[in-house]
Amino acid sequence: MTKQPHPSYIGRFAPSPTGLLHHGSLLTAVASFVDARAHQGSWLVRMEDLDPPREEPGAAAAIIKSLEAHGLEWDDTVLFQSQRSNVYQETLSKLSGWTYPCDCTRARLKTLNGIYDGHCRRSPAQQQPSSLSTACSTAPATALRIRVNDTPIVIEDLIQGHYQQQLLSGVGDFILHRKDGLFAYQLAVVADDIAQNITHIIRGSDLLDNTPRQCWLFDLLKQPRPVFGHLPVIVNSAGQKLSKQTFATPINNSEASANIAAALHRLNHTLPTQLISAPCPEQLAWAIAHWQRERIPKTMTIASNKPT
Ligand code: GLU
Ligand code: ZN
Repeated sequence: MTKQPHPSYIGRFAPSPTGLLHHGSLLTAVASFVDARAHQGSWLVRMEDLDPPREEPGAAAAIIKSLEAHGLEWDDTVLFQSQRSNVYQETLSKLSGWTYPCDCTRARLKTLNGIYDGHCRRSPAQQQPSSLSTACSTAPATALRIRVNDTPIVIEDLIQGHYQQQLLSGVGDFILHRKDGLFAYQLAVVADDIAQNITHIIRGSDLLDNTPRQCWLFDLLKQPRPVFGHLPVIVNSAGQKLSKQTFATPINNSEASANIAAALHRLNHTLPTQLISAPCPEQLAWAIAHWQRERIPKTMTIASNKPT
């Protein structure tokens, strides 16, 4: 892909088709869309269908249909991560000086409480040529990890404010290519955000603690980091994020206006009464005209999965 000069705002919505859209993912779609349009930006949709075992058949098509039903019109064509292995492979080879194979067992990793201890760390010079699996696109014999250091990675988030993390002590060297041959989310998301020239990432705050790892990859690839804004994640009364696992109710496309009204209300941009049941494009036009990022709450809890 040759890079064109790009406008100052390109945003995106990047759902994983593990289930239908629910009120949490619709909130992310609405906020990323309105924020982009309010800044004269473009808004792209990328289907993160990178992990077939976790996907639900038909979910990708259903998500696209729901976006259409809610007046969320995207630019360009929808990108499908399942078709982009060559891009991820290429990105991996650009990072090969920083990666190493890890053959730690699941049992060993379990004892580490999520912070990898660098057990398999080798500098590239110490690696056997055969273990540099970046050239093959099938399952590597081992996982590939990327080295990190402990320099704090600092983010000024548009919504959550200052956030920082030291990767070495906070997560350790992390996986880019899984043992089962699947590319890791961290690698694919950065490769695609670069390929699509994304400048602004508005998404759920459950991903805030992934952001420093992604910034590390942007830095190593010598690409500018996007601006980040992490939305409040809707949690149920038990404090769980809405997801398929917590039985979040899928949104109903025939209640699109009510769904948009509820999402805007949660974003502290409550529609005027006369627009509560107006067609979605009219509701969204109001939101674009009245959008103020500072109004977005940092956290939110609701008693049930249903909008109130
Ligand atoms: N596909 C990820 C998810 O649905 C979101 C990725 C992102 O926005 O960076 O959780
Ligand atoms: Zn290891």
